Amino acid sequence: MAQKDQATIFRRASHVDLVVGPGQLARLPALLEAVAADRGPRLEVGLDGTGRRRGTTASFARFDPPRTPRLREVPHQAMVRIMFGCDKFCTYCIVPRVRGPEQNRPAAEIEDEVRRLVDGGCLEVTLLGQTVNSYRDQTGGRTVGLAGLLERLHGIEGLRRLKFVTNHPRHMTTELLEAVRDLPKVSPYLHVPAQSGSNRVLERMRRGYTAESYREMLQQIRQMVPAAAVTSDFIVGFCGETEADFQQTMDLVRWGRFKNSFIFKYSPRPATRAFDLYADDVPEEVKRRWNNELLAVQNAVSLEDNQPFLGREVEILVEGRANRR
Ligand code: SF4
Repeated sequence: MAQKDQATIFRRASHVDLVVGPGQLARLPALLEAVAADRGPRLEVGLDGTGRRRGTTASFARFDPPRTPRLREVPHQAMVRIMFGCDKFCTYCIVPRVRGPEQNRPAAEIEDEVRRLVDGGCLEVTLLGQTVNSYRDQTGGRTVGLAGLLERLHGIEGLRRLKFVTNHPRHMTTELLEAVRDLPKVSPYLHVPAQSGSNRVLERMRRGYTAESYREMLQQIRQMVPAAAVTSDFIVGFCGETEADFQQTMDLVRWGRFKNSFIFKYSPRPATRAFDLYADDVPEEVKRRWNNELLAVQNAVSLEDNQPFLGREVEILVEGRANRR
């Protein structure tokens, strides 16, 4: 919101002293001090690297300062951002607009951070990116993709588990699946949002793939990594979506046998292309019904697929006490 609305926030809320975008988060302490010293309202929303495709900038490192165990909620787990921004421009999404173009951190820098985390007692690292599997570091003229990065991190002694989210279906390469298959520390967990099972809706969303190509990708995952737990995201009630479109999404969820799906009802976001191009014309009660129906199908699939775990012994990582008892 800070990145999108910028100075408008001062106009809407006169008590606000400071508006900070994601590119300046690491400077927050100094910015707060400046405001506390009564140096007036401040607007800090620059996104270094805008317009420089795949270039890495200093702001990126500043955005994600090295983490210390003291700052992490769970000392043996950590998230490490390996890229920032997105080049895809799905019509419903605000991310490219507010986070700028895709920027990738150098593999050596990521490796350093992971080593420090492991030295501090971390066992599990999750690599983060909006489209994490399009990661590409070209420092020094050599290209390192996500598969290469996983291989590099896999060699770190003491690290037990590696995960990565979120994947884009178009970048799920054979090389990456080979890495997931062949590197024991890489969890066979793949979150690959489909968003819809209808080509008409996917086209309107500008997702850049078809329902058929998504299914082919899923088949390749099943062939190469049969034990993979694949999860997905779905949006129901996108602009212009019909009952027939929705039934195609239901078919995909039944066929895809996802471990879990995160299902969202579409809501229009100002400053997205969908907001300007299309009417939010699916009634709220239809969105709610579709949401419930899709959730019911997914829950049935999840329950069935979890049954084989009854009585099995598996290695687990205790994350802490659950909020719900
Ligand atoms: S939905 Fe994901 S891939 Fe699409 S624009 Fe947003 S961040 Fe990028």
